[in-house]
Amino acid sequence: MSPSERNPELGRSRPAAPAIYPASVYSLPDLDELDRISDGVEPGYSYARDKHPNAAELAARMAEAHQAQWGVVAASGMGAIAATLLSVLRCGDRVVASDQLYGGTAQLLRSLLPRFGVETSLVDTCSVASVREALSKPVKLVFIETMSNPLLRVPDVGQLAELAHSRQALLLVDNTFASPVLFRPLAHGADLVVESMTKIIGGHSDMTLGGVFGNDPAIGAEVARSASLWGMPASPFDCWLAVRSLATLDLRIRAAAANASQLATWLDQRSGVAKVVYPGLASHPDHSRAMELFSGPPGNMVAFELPGGRSAVNQFMRQGPGIPFCPSLGGTETSCSYPFGTSHRFLNPIEKERLGVTAGLIRLSVGIESVEQIIEDLAAKLR
Ligand SMILES: *Cc1c(COP(=O)(O)O)cnc(C)c1O
Repeated sequence: MSPSERNPELGRSRPAAPAIYPASVYSLPDLDELDRISDGVEPGYSYARDKHPNAAELAARMAEAHQAQWGVVAASGMGAIAATLLSVLRCGDRVVASDQLYGGTAQLLRSLLPRFGVETSLVDTCSVASVREALSKPVKLVFIETMSNPLLRVPDVGQLAELAHSRQALLLVDNTFASPVLFRPLAHGADLVVESMTKIIGGHSDMTLGGVFGNDPAIGAEVARSASLWGMPASPFDCWLAVRSLATLDLRIRAAAANASQLATWLDQRSGVAKVVYPGLASHPDHSRAMELFSGPPGNMVAFELPGGRSAVNQFMRQGPGIPFCPSLGGTETSCSYPFGTSHRFLNPIEKERLGVTAGLIRLSVGIESVEQIIEDLAAKLR
């Protein structure tokens, strides 16, 4: 229903912003129309858990950004990941996944999917030899992240796509840390992309959403069905906010990444900082790959280590007014997080050690304030 049909008072004027449709259900003229909509012969909606206009608009806009044939939005990034896994995996299937995946994803793969008869082998996906070995046994899905957390490791997406395809497996890439502005995994051979839109896409720390994007229409239909039947519909209001955020996505991520790049260099030169992790620094193990793959500075995340461990981190957090401790990322405001106690809390000490998640490691999500302001705030906290 067009706005003027619903509200004749609008006359020939048109609202300059999209409408929000909170409706959970839609009225239909007759059974024939229900059939046409259900068969996809005609556009239309019937029940919001299946689809609604705000989700459809966001999915289309994000699919376009990824140059994907289809997009499905879900209630959260984890919802998008769960809907994808529940669509492409069957009992008896095996997943080969990065050993540095987001904590929620790692828990899903390690402790929930085995209940459904799906096993996961975790490997260092930046080592082609390790991946090759893991792929010597049958595998259905290879699951990586564009940039890992918090060490910001960047795997060779193109080569992993080739390897996965040579074993008839799908490559799924979580692109949350890059967004389609910096990297489009489908263009490098990935079959599926997931993103937590709670982070950079939303960008204002005020909503929770996720999305899945791909080119195979059969998988797209399965993911949409899973998202509906397992009950992961995205809220119309959150979708509306995300569409509004897309208008500034390019500006925000480029400004934040430029700030991150300058901050990484500043931190690197600062005494009292033991180590700085940023793919834009020549010291990062994946520096050259990151510079090749990403358009511009490689993202807005920077990690650094204080030699004093937990007590030094506590002092950093308590000192100075700026840079709040918020265990999320991608907002307009610079914030810090503590992987050792938040995202990687459930790992045992040996695993933390292996991943370089030390007791003194602080992760910054760099925002779009002036870089001078962020440096002033950081300096006050590092006193
Ligand atoms: C936050 C995050 C998720 C999960 O997204 P939610 O919206 O919190 O469910 C998945 N992957 C990565 C890389 C994330 O940072």
